[in-house]
Amino acid sequence: MSAEKPRHTPLMQQYLSIKAEHPDILLFFRMGDFYELFYDDARKAARLLNISLTTRGKSAGEPIPMAGVPYHAVDSYLAKLVKLGESVAICEQIGDPATSKGPVERRVTRIVTPGTITEEALLEERRDNLIAALHAQGGRFGLAWMEVSSGRFLAMELDGEEALTSELERLRPAELIVDENGSLPFLSDRKGVQRLPPWHFEPETARRLLCKQFGTRDLAGFGCEPFPLAVSAAGALLHYVNNTQRSHLPHIGALHVERREESIILDAASRRNLELETSLSGHSEQTLAAILDHTATPMGGRLLRRWLNRPLRDQAAVERRHQAVATLLDDSGYEALHERLRGIGDVERILTRIALRSARPADLVQLRTALGRLPELRALLKQRKTPLLADLHRRIGEFPELLDLLERAVVESPPQLIRDGGVIAPGFDTELDELRALQQNAGDYLLQLERREREQTGIATLKVSYNRVHGYYIEVSRVHSDTIPDHYQRRQTLKGAERYITPELKAFEDKVLSANERALAREKRIYEQLLDRIAEKLTELQRCAAALAELDALNNLAERAASLDWVTPSFTDRPEIRIIGGRHPVVEQLQENPFVPNDLLLDHQRRMLLITGPNMGGKSTYMRQTALIVLLAYMGSFVPAREALIGPVDRIFTRIGASDELASGRSTFMVEMTETANILHNATRDSLVLMDEIGRGTSTFDGLSLAWASALHLVREIGAFTLFATHYFELTRLPEMVPGVANVHLDAKEVDEHIVFLHSVKEGPASQSYGLQVAALAGVPREVIQRARQKLGELERHRPSRQRGAGGTQPVLFTPPPPPSPIEQAVADLDPDGLTPRQALEALYRLRELLEKRGRRES
Ligand code: ADP
Repeated sequence: MSAEKPRHTPLMQQYLSIKAEHPDILLFFRMGDFYELFYDDARKAARLLNISLTTRGKSAGEPIPMAGVPYHAVDSYLAKLVKLGESVAICEQIGDPATSKGPVERRVTRIVTPGTITEEALLEERRDNLIAALHAQGGRFGLAWMEVSSGRFLAMELDGEEALTSELERLRPAELIVDENGSLPFLSDRKGVQRLPPWHFEPETARRLLCKQFGTRDLAGFGCEPFPLAVSAAGALLHYVNNTQRSHLPHIGALHVERREESIILDAASRRNLELETSLSGHSEQTLAAILDHTATPMGGRLLRRWLNRPLRDQAAVERRHQAVATLLDDSGYEALHERLRGIGDVERILTRIALRSARPADLVQLRTALGRLPELRALLKQRKTPLLADLHRRIGEFPELLDLLERAVVESPPQLIRDGGVIAPGFDTELDELRALQQNAGDYLLQLERREREQTGIATLKVSYNRVHGYYIEVSRVHSDTIPDHYQRRQTLKGAERYITPELKAFEDKVLSANERALAREKRIYEQLLDRIAEKLTELQRCAAALAELDALNNLAERAASLDWVTPSFTDRPEIRIIGGRHPVVEQLQENPFVPNDLLLDHQRRMLLITGPNMGGKSTYMRQTALIVLLAYMGSFVPAREALIGPVDRIFTRIGASDELASGRSTFMVEMTETANILHNATRDSLVLMDEIGRGTSTFDGLSLAWASALHLVREIGAFTLFATHYFELTRLPEMVPGVANVHLDAKEVDEHIVFLHSVKEGPASQSYGLQVAALAGVPREVIQRARQKLGELERHRPSRQRGAGGTQPVLFTPPPPPSPIEQAVADLDPDGLTPRQALEALYRLRELLEKRGRRES
């Protein structure tokens, strides 16, 4: 029989029992000034945080792997972990080490997870950080989401996977909670998915939990009765968040139900294609959000992004925003408001930290500044009379008593942490003042005492002093030791001197030494009371913060309209999009050349525009700018155009560009067809559809046939407003065959064999394709271009389908040409239509390779 295994030390027993409750996440175990991690956690943290892995003694006969981070720098480590999608349980020392027998008592006080953080240092300023929960039943989904850092809590129900993925793409939650029994294969490669046992989603438990949170008897007031799946998801979410915060969540006061039909729907691909917040190259610059957001406060910036991601279909509601923006533009009124809003800060998130009692002194100072600005801000706002601005004026309100309290209670610029003291202002609390006076006046008092004792004893060299070991003492040189009074008690004997203490000095010592500690404790208590006092007004303050964010967003739209020369759009209930002098809001700002404005008309007789023209001519810019103008108009913004009249739009679809998802293993063509299928299934008469070069991912004839059939389906069966850019010239015959289709083209001209892009949109099909000129522009060698030009001439003679212009013979769509040789194919791949400069180059390289091979063979 083997010897009995040595037992774990008491400390490690404590650690292991706490760790057992959090097996799947890192445990930060507080020991003095460090958070320590042990065993596998230590190895993982060492790898993720790049900190050193050591060992700490032995427990159960084995060395303990350990890694640690200093407590005062914990935020930066947490930020890193949370970004990597890790969650961390924070275990603090609860008991007093001085009085503890064995290890001091410890407890997990909160769990930091990517979706539930509230600390300023861990959050991105201008992006909502959301946690969501999903409950599936059949093909229907309940989705709830919360921004813990601001208290917004919402839910909706959705039909089908496509709807769900597009909402998830809109919200982009940092963490998603799902039922572990649910079959949700499309989530399998998603990051941040937490699987919980099914009972978390149990409807009755959810209902009870939500009612308890909101202090209501039922959920009728929140309009969520018809959405049981959303309620289940919301319940599971609340339960999870409660558990991570380990505290009551007073700032979560309501659940709002969103309906998908209330907004213009953008599917996941279109959101990416239109580069609203992230560019196709994955950056946040060169996006609409970057151009649009010059807000004065982070909360205004976040609201603006929510508007941008959820344009409303309710024209009247959006017109109220347009009206407010127009009024703020009068006499540049937005400038003064922007100045005042700039100092307001992130009140929304500060209030959450106050509600969770984790606010720092700087948060209170910022809140004080914000409250101080309100009267001036409201006075400015009062001069601008529109229904929406009047409503904001009312909702912002003023808080004179709270402001007065904060002005009296907190010093001008306090230290970072309340723990260090010096946060509460002098004059606010008598007891604190006395305790502080005691410390500050100690020096004076001791001098007085010294003088008095010298007089009474007649010893002129008597000194009162302090040292850390013996505390206060009176020092008398040995020669005078016979003459000291009886009440002097000896404390310490030195070589030439004696040190004494008197009852008076002892009493003083006790008072001073404890005064420091008592002052800090007193400050902490006052600080907590202060947070309580502010929290009493939490609901009103939250309403004020939301209204400030809204004002900031509107004011920002006014500033942008003025600076970028945008105009107010008009709405109509007729099916129509009429844009005069439209521009692309992002391209216009980023390029040095002047942007050429273009008109666009779509109405019930003109539902589809077939857009032709050379590569780089501006087709895709023209299409995107149309979608962006519509989107801006419906979010409440002015638009980059001279005039814009826009009818109802229910969805915007895009099938744009070669946003290859090769990394995900799907071919370009597969992605293209999946997106096309989605459009053909879901578009309606009220949708705006952008189709860019569909069919180019497959062989010419397949591609052409698919493009042709899709265009026909869109215009005939669906009747959606469609912009259809194509390099298949055959398609320009459609207008002759189907009513509702018109040709437009991007103009270009050739000057001395060089192409000049005019970027202006003209009626009718393009007359020439300029593919070789574009290749020349891309730097393809002259000889190759010339050879390609010869070949092109030959091909054109042999391909009736390339006949141009109206009135020709019917397009010969399905007469297959004789199979080309590899070299012929390579030259045909150089088809001047529809090649990007890069593709042209690649095709040419291929051609060169083949020619070289042939050269070698022949020689
Ligand atoms: P296409 O889709 O026809 O290949 P793009 O729309 O990608 O062409 O435009 C190519 C480039 O031309 C853009 O990156 C932009 O710099 C420029 N461009 C496009 N439209 C305009 C315009 N209306 N005015 C000025 N420059 C434009």
